[in-house]
Amino acid sequence: MAARKQNKGACVFCQKEMTKSGLSKHFSSCTKRQQAVAKANEKAKSGKEQTLFYLVIEDKYAKDFWLHLEMKGTAKIDALDHYLREIWLECCGHLSAFQYKRNGRGGEQEISLSRQAKTVFEVGLELEHIYDFGSSSETLIKVIAERQGQALSKHPIKLLARNEMPETYCIECGQPASWYCQECVIEEDEPGLLCDEHVKTHPHDNYGEPLPLANSPRMGICGYDGPAIPPY
Ligand SMILES: [Zn+2]
Ligand SMILES: [Zn+2]
Ligand SMILES: [Zn+2]
Ligand SMILES: [Zn+2]
Repeated sequence: MAARKQNKGACVFCQKEMTKSGLSKHFSSCTKRQQAVAKANEKAKSGKEQTLFYLVIEDKYAKDFWLHLEMKGTAKIDALDHYLREIWLECCGHLSAFQYKRNGRGGEQEISLSRQAKTVFEVGLELEHIYDFGSSSETLIKVIAERQGQALSKHPIKLLARNEMPETYCIECGQPASWYCQECVIEEDEPGLLCDEHVKTHPHDNYGEPLPLANSPRMGICGYDGPAIPPY
């Protein structure tokens, strides 16, 4: 599902829209983010700082799908697996695993879900997440930066930005698509993208009715039908 140009997403702090790489540069200078960080640090009475990791995540093949997250060092790796399932991947409870990226240190060694992020992550580290060892979805995770301070969320992970839905077009008329037909994808090896009009008259039903497009790289795989919303 390729889009024509680099798609954008909004900074959760100031709502400015930027490309994936633009956002990576932006967060260090975003004044709204700096204010949120300062406020969180002030509010903390104990002064107990923790390490927070800034992660940039993308689908290994469909590069239009990406996430910028901040994760607590004390959170378990399991929390990231849960997050990826909720926002992108979950169709029918397949197995998943994290491993060090190929060519990276440790080869394909699997990382236990029960480990704390701070015992695994370091700046520059790249990991792969695999969901479903049959029709697999593969996700790349890069640890871009870390900071000491108070978390901006009570949850293990805070969403900083995600891609907007990539633009796709109806196979019949070229208008923006909002549905896809599984039969086209599986039987015809076609993208199967349909607009609101042409979905009404599309002849295929061997794999059920066409499904609404979701903002997820798993769309079109194993009957994935969203909703592609973050768990918190
Ligand atoms: Zn911003
Ligand atoms: Zn499935
Ligand atoms: Zn159409
Ligand atoms: Zn079809």
